[in-house]
Amino acid sequence: MAGGKKVVVVGGGVAGAHTAKFLQDFASVTLLDPKEYFEVPFAMLRSIVEPEFAERSLILHTEYLKKARLVVSSAKSATDTEVVTTDGEKLPYDYLVIATGSTYQGPSKRSERLQYFQSENKKLKNASTILIIGGGPVGVELAGEIVVDFPEKKVILVHAGERLLEFLGPKASNKTLSWLKSKNVEVILNEKIDVSNLSDSTTTYTTNTGRSITADTHFVAVGRKVGSSWIVGSVFKSLLDSDGRLKVDESLRLEGKTNVFAIGDVANTKEIKQGYVAGKHAELVSENIKKLIKNPSSKLTTYKRMATPMAMVSLGRSLAVGQLPFGTILGRIPGMIKSKDLFVGFTRKALGVAERKDSLSDKGYALSSYKVYAVVAILVASAAIIHQYTL
Ligand SMILES: Cc1cc2nc3c(=O)[nH]c(=O)nc-3n(C[C@H](O)[C@H](O)[C@H](O)COP(=O)(O)OP(=O)(O)OC[C@H]3O[C@@H](n4cnc5c(N)ncnc54)[C@H](O)[C@@H]3O)c2cc1C
Repeated sequence: MAGGKKVVVVGGGVAGAHTAKFLQDFASVTLLDPKEYFEVPFAMLRSIVEPEFAERSLILHTEYLKKARLVVSSAKSATDTEVVTTDGEKLPYDYLVIATGSTYQGPSKRSERLQYFQSENKKLKNASTILIIGGGPVGVELAGEIVVDFPEKKVILVHAGERLLEFLGPKASNKTLSWLKSKNVEVILNEKIDVSNLSDSTTTYTTNTGRSITADTHFVAVGRKVGSSWIVGSVFKSLLDSDGRLKVDESLRLEGKTNVFAIGDVANTKEIKQGYVAGKHAELVSENIKKLIKNPSSKLTTYKRMATPMAMVSLGRSLAVGQLPFGTILGRIPGMIKSKDLFVGFTRKALGVAERKDSLSDKGYALSSYKVYAVVAILVASAAIIHQYTL
């Protein structure tokens, strides 16, 4: 661990992992995360249909943090000088980076997470009819993975909203709905299932309109919450907005604070919440902290948010729906960018972690940085529009 100023990074997701990695050579960095590993979030659903995929997408924090300290625990509260963990440890800081994007319910051990994907896969393989509850990115990507890898299975998707993928525009929703229907997925919109009383043995489900659905198993794809409940017990409580995100200034510092930053999904920047955005936040904040360490009165670089929301939702192994700066397309071109490797090789490279040749399938490939990803997406979108490439 490098000496000097103390930087505590809370949350080891996309934003926090990259920040800790960027800063470990310049400060005494501590990463606090409830799990011993970083999980490439985009790969989660592929790991249900192909559990071996998780061998590459679950990366021990110690694989890329050679100089930083890792504390496997959760933040419980914070003062202006220290973070307190749920185990009672106090982590003093000169600079604090809050990156607790979404709450995490899974195990802290990598081996247990691998086991989880094996058991989810077994559940899937043993079922003929599968109910997915939730039609956001998790539900849609899971449906896509299942119909492509297990076309013989019947998939029913229930979504409370009036359209799928509401974080994207209606074009993306409509194209996705048509594609799922073409794969015989039964999509039920505007209906809800109460997930609080479901168990592994449930096979009959009732929606709020009284509709009865029979399925051998179910997957819950709702309920991802902003990871900010711990902030209620901290001195930063008054900086939470009504969505539970932290109010930041133009340099991603907490409003009114000089040494505390919030990045990724937990920051209330007015833009789409995506991993590539979290990566940009991590880069900017790391540069600003480096400047402050050199000279506390440095002028900080300001954050320029993405003007156009850009996102891709994979539909199995080769297709995706992409909302790109020049239009919305569903097909192989966005699929080539995302769906083949789900940015696993790209993320490993960005974190400086060697590729696992033993578990790299012939489907894998890597891009080199978040900037490359953005440039490729723009070029591909332009090409797609010129050639009118849509399915
Ligand atoms: C299915 C799916 C597909 C997606 N596809 C894409 C895509 O193709 N491209 C893209 O750019 N984005 C995509 N996203 C969005 C992207 O995953 C998120 O925007 C990104 O993960 C946000 O990063 P983050 O670091 O802010 O939060 P997260 O990645 O959610 O990380 C938060 C971290 O904080 C930790 N944490 C939570 N509470 C505490 C606490 N109290 N104390 C300590 N640690 C805590 C968690 O364990 C976790 O490690 C996708 C998301 C999903 C679900």
